[in-house]
Amino acid sequence: MSASPMDAAGAEPVAFPQPESSDIGTPFWASLKQGKLSFQRCQSCGKAWLPARHQCPGCLSPNWQREESKGQARLISWVVYHVAYHPAFANRLPYTVAVVELDEGPRMITNLIHTEAHSLQLDQRLWLVIEDEQGVAVPRFEPHPPGAGMTAKAQA
Ligand SMILES: [Zn+2]
Repeated sequence: MSASPMDAAGAEPVAFPQPESSDIGTPFWASLKQGKLSFQRCQSCGKAWLPARHQCPGCLSPNWQREESKGQARLISWVVYHVAYHPAFANRLPYTVAVVELDEGPRMITNLIHTEAHSLQLDQRLWLVIEDEQGVAVPRFEPHPPGAGMTAKAQA
C-alpha cells in the first residue's frame, strides 16, 4: 500500500517541502545544516536582513557580507494555524507561525516550538532551535529560558 499526498487523513506523512535552490538562498540553508543561522549585512548602510536577496533592502547596495546570528531574538507577532495549507503540516495542527527579530536586526518568519500560544507575549525572549525535517535544517524558536512558554501542567 503506497501513500501519496492525496491520501486521506491518517496516511503516512507527506514529504516536507524543500527550499528552492538559488545562488543567493542556498548558502542560508547550507549554513543551517552546519548549525548556524546566517543573514546578510549591508557594507554601505549597515542594515541587516532576511530572507536572502542580492541588494540591500535599505539602500539597494550590492555590497554586503554574510554574518552568523547568535540565535537570540524577540517575539514581534504570531498566528496559530488551525488549517494546514500544505499536506505535510496536517498532522501538526495547531502550530504557531511567528515573526521574530534577531538581536542582530533581521526579522524572519519562523515557527515557535515548546510553547503554548496562549502564554506568548510580545517582545518575549526566544532562542534558536535548528530542527531536522527530512534532511532540511529548519530554524525555529523556543521561549527562553526553556519552559518559559509552558504551563506547569504542560511541563509535567
Ligand atoms: Zn544598505
